[in-house]
Order: sequence, then C-alpha cells, then structure tokens
Amino acid sequence: MPSIFTKIINKEIPCYNIVENDRFIAFLDINPNAKGHTLCVPKQEIDKIFDMPEKLYLDLMQFSREVAIALEKTVPCKRIGMSVVGLEVAHVHVHLIPLNEMKEMTFLNKVTQSDSEFKALAKAIAAHLT
Ligand code: AMP
Repeated sequence: MPSIFTKIINKEIPCYNIVENDRFIAFLDINPNAKGHTLCVPKQEIDKIFDMPEKLYLDLMQFSREVAIALEKTVPCKRIGMSVVGLEVAHVHVHLIPLNEMKEMTFLNKVTQSDSEFKALAKAIAAHLT
C-alpha cells in the first residue's frame, strides 16, 4: 500500500506544497511542532533513511539545506532544527523545524494554524527559494 506521502506526491491527497522537482518534494507538516515545520521527502518510497542509495541520500540533504535556508529567511527563529524519525510514516522524510526553544524538537509541542495561514506560509517560504 502506498504511503501517505506517496499519495501526496501523486496528488491524490492535498498538501501545503513549498517546492518540488523530479525527485523531491517539500511541504508543511500538517501537525507542526512550530510554525514553519517542513518535511522534505524523496519521491521514491523508501522506509528508512540509511537504506537510501548514497547519492539519493546526499541529494536529499542538499535539497533539505536549500529549503532550510529559505525557511530561516521566512520564519523568525534562532535556527532551523533537523531531525529524522519515521515512526509514524514509513517513507523517508527530513523534518525541518524553526526553533526558538528546545521543546520544539520534542514532537509533543504542537501549534495550530488555519488553512489560510498554512497556505500563506508555504507561499512565503517558496518565494525565498532561488
Ligand atoms: P514521523 O514519521 O514520526 O517522522 O512523523 C511523521 C510526520 O508526518 C508527523 O510530524 C506528521 O504530523 C506528518 N504528517 C502526517 N501526515 C501528513 C500529511 N498528510 N501532510 C503533512 N504532514 C503529515
């Protein structure tokens, strides 16, 4: 069965898309730890990050870095935190989280945002990508 992220990639379910190319997509996490919490996902469905072919892994890191730089320009924060978990969705994804406090890395700290806030944020991050 395809992962929920494969369904997003195939446009079967919606997301707050920031950017995508032929191999990767970045969109806002629907249940964010902090405003701007973003997921960077390879379009190839692989469960665990360290099972990825090395080049795809390195290219995911490069893609994530570009998105993180745009995110940091968009959302006021001390820095962008990065983590990989995968306990909920078995499809590789890099969490990029604008951080002001350590608790924002815990995945217990959640913020709510309206549909229009998510849309505006995704658009603003995308505008900072070159
Ligand atoms: P984990 O697999 O533990 O790294 O967490 C999966 C993450 O995916 C969580 O932060 C969820 O909020 C997020 N997530 C799950 N479904 C969606 C979705 N449809 N759109 C955006 N983010 C999602």
